[in-house]
Amino acid sequence: MQTARRIQAIPPYLFAEIDRKIAQARAAGVDVISFGIGDPDRPTPIPVVETLQQAAADPANHRYPSYEGLPAFRQAVADWYARRFGVQLDPDKEIVSLIGSKEGIAHIALCYVNPGDVTLVPDPGYPVYALGTLFAGGSPYYLPLLPARGFLPDLSAIPSDVARRARILYLNYPNNPTGAVVSPDFFAEVVEFARSYDLLVCHDAAYTEVSFDGYRPPSFLQTPDAKEVGIEFHSLSKTYNMTGWRLGWACGNPEAIEALGRLKTNIDSGVFQAIQYAGITALRLPDRFIEEMRAVYQRRRDLLVAGLRSLGAPIEPPKATIYVWVPVPEGESSTSFATKLLERAGVVVTPGVGYGAAGEGYIRFSLSIPDDRLRTGLARLQQAGVRWK
Ligand SMILES: *Cc1c(COP(=O)(O)O)cnc(C)c1O
Repeated sequence: MQTARRIQAIPPYLFAEIDRKIAQARAAGVDVISFGIGDPDRPTPIPVVETLQQAAADPANHRYPSYEGLPAFRQAVADWYARRFGVQLDPDKEIVSLIGSKEGIAHIALCYVNPGDVTLVPDPGYPVYALGTLFAGGSPYYLPLLPARGFLPDLSAIPSDVARRARILYLNYPNNPTGAVVSPDFFAEVVEFARSYDLLVCHDAAYTEVSFDGYRPPSFLQTPDAKEVGIEFHSLSKTYNMTGWRLGWACGNPEAIEALGRLKTNIDSGVFQAIQYAGITALRLPDRFIEEMRAVYQRRRDLLVAGLRSLGAPIEPPKATIYVWVPVPEGESSTSFATKLLERAGVVVTPGVGYGAAGEGYIRFSLSIPDDRLRTGLARLQQAGVRWK
């Protein structure tokens, strides 16, 4: 049996070779230290777990949930947006629950992209933007994120015939994998661009709460007129250590939210209500839960950046995200250097090229690793004589 072209079009899994080497090292008894995983290592806050325990026992939650999310969940999202960003959202028309934000990010192209259409996709970037586009029969046009521009795409460099065929512009700030944050004027430029080419902006806001040194990342929806051109994907995954729970939402432009909701009605049947109640508890937690999370990652960021700098790595501490994006030494590729760190020090990092061609020349360290493992990993790099210059 032949699989469909959309399955054949899935790019080869770039980490297969490294994964094989990790398995080999582990089998040989090496205590491999992984900086490769972007998944919070700390537990979900206890009140959230307790809400799930109670709600799971209530038979009222055992039936099909409402497709678009419980009214109480959407209200909690609206309250959270108002409190955090000063953005007003209509819970009935401008918010839809998602089975994790990845689900919505993967599906939105099915609502806006016809075969042959183009989407604008950051490179390097979260792979789901391009894959969602391919599944819809569209073609991603990659926007390189380069250090000279602070890892913001150069919208003026997009050829106008490409921009005219583009249906979606995907963005993600704070950014995975580069750790970059948005500049104050960029979102306004995005609104202008989206209006002139009549395309939908899809902003992935997964990391707005994971920020350091007092910096507070903005929502795209705080930009004047953003709601006319775009939606924002949000998630409880990174903010409340809830990656396994699968709960997120999309919010913003009501036509786009309606379209995504209509598509989902025909694909899934919503999020288990007990999980939505737990999500409400999370969104109403006192700020100290988020502050603790920030303090943990900031401490690890400082440890990691100081350790890598002492080995000669030319890096600045990122203002947000759980990632540190590190240029590889001269003469190395992202894969050759990642392989060297594994073979010499038993340390796993992600080769930047796995996030797109423009990620070549970088490796990504994740901060979702306990402090003692992080320290041991750094010590191993030093003992192995790894140096940037
Ligand atoms: C982790 C992550 C998400 C969140 O995914 P969920 O499906 O909500 O768990 C979205 N976008 C990016 C860039 C991420 O790194």
